[in-house]
Amino acid sequence: MQKRTASIKLVTTAQESALLNAVQRESARVCNTIVLLAHKNNCGNHVKLHRLAYYPIRATTNLGSQMVCNALKAVCNAFKSMKSKKAKELPVSRFKPTSRVHYDKRTYSFKDGALSLCTLSRRIVLPMALGKPQKEYLRIGTPKKAQLIYRNKKWFFNLVFDIPDVPLSPSSDKVLGVDLGENVVAATYLRKLYGGRQLRHKRDCAVAQRKRLQRKGTKSSQRKLKKTSDKEARHIKHTNHSLSKAIVQEALNSGCFVIALENLTNIRDRIKATKRVRYRLHGWAWAQLQRFIVYKAQAVGLKVVFVNPAYTSKTCALCKELSIRVKHRFVCKVCGIQRHSDLNASLNISRIAASADGATGAVNHPNMEAALA
Ligand SMILES: [Zn+2]
Repeated sequence: MQKRTASIKLVTTAQESALLNAVQRESARVCNTIVLLAHKNNCGNHVKLHRLAYYPIRATTNLGSQMVCNALKAVCNAFKSMKSKKAKELPVSRFKPTSRVHYDKRTYSFKDGALSLCTLSRRIVLPMALGKPQKEYLRIGTPKKAQLIYRNKKWFFNLVFDIPDVPLSPSSDKVLGVDLGENVVAATYLRKLYGGRQLRHKRDCAVAQRKRLQRKGTKSSQRKLKKTSDKEARHIKHTNHSLSKAIVQEALNSGCFVIALENLTNIRDRIKATKRVRYRLHGWAWAQLQRFIVYKAQAVGLKVVFVNPAYTSKTCALCKELSIRVKHRFVCKVCGIQRHSDLNASLNISRIAASADGATGAVNHPNMEAALA
């Protein structure tokens, strides 16, 4: 079972939007009141907080009983995440009037292809603007918890689904090796390179701008910094989505059943590079790219294995002798072959994954938590 989140756009009239807005404001007010109560009684425990706050809150709000329970849960989650980040006390105004509202199966439901939501006074039924993946999630998945979000003057319902695993369908023992290098984002053994100069340039620009803004250190430059880093994060996410999609598609097109990825735990130590390149590496969300590849592969019944990438960039994929790479070229001193260095590495990754077990058995069991940490 995998968890997937669909961000579903809601179609609302002005009147419905006002109702949602009222829920959002009231929910934030209730959450902040709960935070205050928690502070006063020095209590962050869910059960205790429920006992302490539920009836007093219910007496002062139009929010339904389950919506109050969800608010309690939201506050406890906020406490937990504060603790895990080792932050100071939870601020009393932690929940903004624009904060997301938590919903669960008791406070939302589906009705004839539309979404029915609890508001302060009554339930409203809203049409959903569904894309292809969202329709698919609704068809095959089990809807779980959700959040109501107001973004760019539109309402979204971020809904978590439990999606059943697609059974593995071993079609061949061919392995597609994917190398994450400093020259290109990913290379696979079918001689395809993704990313490249344009992407690299964009990353360099982002790094340069970030440094400039950090140096400045004024309030407005900090605001700008936040804005540009959000933009950069969105760009990276978008690129990782299309890269992972292309890689999984390539595996399908070429009849590969297994995709081999590098165990990334040491990628940053492994790549010795100039300061500029290192900066770029740290900026790139490698783990995110791998996560995307893993779930997209699983969705179509492909298997993903993780291999130890030691020496994959220094070994000749043809004769397996150690040799050297000079920037983008790998030149074998023994057999004389010349290749793009990242392609050579991805060939090695394929070979290691294939030799570990004939590629269809249980290799190197992908300890996702460790590999993607
Ligand atoms: Zn060689």
